[in-house]
Amino acid sequence: MKKIYIRTFGCQMNVRDSEALLGLFLEKGYAQAESEKDADVILLNTCSVRAHAEHRVHSILGSYKKLSAISRQPSAKKNKKAESLPKVRLKAESCKIIGLIGCMAKNVGEEVAKRFAHVDLIVAPSRLHKIPEYVQRIVDQRPKTKDQRPGLRIIDLEDGTREETFYSAEYRQDKSHAQVVISTGCANNCAYCVVPFVRGALRLRAPQDIIAEVKRNVAMGRTRITLLGQNVNDYNFIEAEQSGTKRGYTRNHPTSHVLRPTSFVDLLKMVEAIDGVEEIEFLTPHPKNTTRELFKLMAKSKKIKKYLHLPFQAGSDRILKLMNRGYTKKEYLELVKDYKEITGGTIGTDIIVGFPTETDEDFAHTKEILEKAQFMGAYIFKYSLRPHTQALKLKDDVPAAVKEKRHAILLDLQKKISAIEADKR
Ligand code: SF4
Repeated sequence: MKKIYIRTFGCQMNVRDSEALLGLFLEKGYAQAESEKDADVILLNTCSVRAHAEHRVHSILGSYKKLSAISRQPSAKKNKKAESLPKVRLKAESCKIIGLIGCMAKNVGEEVAKRFAHVDLIVAPSRLHKIPEYVQRIVDQRPKTKDQRPGLRIIDLEDGTREETFYSAEYRQDKSHAQVVISTGCANNCAYCVVPFVRGALRLRAPQDIIAEVKRNVAMGRTRITLLGQNVNDYNFIEAEQSGTKRGYTRNHPTSHVLRPTSFVDLLKMVEAIDGVEEIEFLTPHPKNTTRELFKLMAKSKKIKKYLHLPFQAGSDRILKLMNRGYTKKEYLELVKDYKEITGGTIGTDIIVGFPTETDEDFAHTKEILEKAQFMGAYIFKYSLRPHTQALKLKDDVPAAVKEKRHAILLDLQKKISAIEADKR
């Protein structure tokens, strides 16, 4: 029996993607390997949000070279020009299939292909549903002997809508909890963020597919549900009638016979109404279109957890504008105040320190939000310049030492606040 090993980096979206993919392979008769050594197929499901996440994967890919025998064309040694020819990919049948998938594949896939001849498969996030088919094709076309043509390599960096079958497998890591993707990609263009490039445009799954997946999981005893989207508030599914196609359109479809759209709050109510669902969470709302209507539903609901993860990223209105976040410090703090008053719940956040041109005064605004909002917890990151982002044109001018200092100040402050908040519960 062939064995597969999927190593996951980054966010909950990647965790769910790896789980869905593993489920598809298990249904094809594969077994889950304990480690790379034990596997026939190794897939790295990667993250590109910060540079060091990619550097780590580069060194792992380097270490995989010994796991798959690659030999040069005998003649290559003789003349210089031949030296620059790409290495011949002559992978013996027994060699492992190595794949780089997810955000890093889309971000630097071509580069990886040139640098690591032993990587057989490079697939972008929107095309993960194709991987079982691609692996089978690579297995089928593995060279049996040295004089046969080189093994197949597949690079698929297309953007597009995933096939619904990607979410069909029953396998889940957790017996009582299921993460359910409601949308892929993102329609926001936060200046520092590579997600819109690597995961593509916002694409919504149809409400009936999401509800069916939740019901399948409840039937298997998974009564805790987490709904996943880059910005769940952007969920607004429209069933268009006139165009003759019933599904899969985003919110600005120019048709005159639009049925009532299904908003995120509508979708939450539909999940809440499912018998057997005991607890509902969602990740991640965006402050620019988080509504009081959502808070009122959370307050009324016996199933929706009274916890909100609401990234504010920075406190200065000038920096928020440069980040293209779409709200001000005042609006954010009012949202937090209303959330706490309406739901009595707890809140967490994400912060970036050291965004280009951030001054001490800007940083003071960030610190003030932390003091006023009293978060249960906060993920605090140092700004990392990313390709394919708006911020690329801004000079990364905040010195590393200053980023380090501001990062430490916020970590220390948040630690004290988290302790106080935990004592209140
Ligand atoms: S909302 Fe902004 S930060 Fe979040 S994934 Fe989209 S572009 Fe990135």
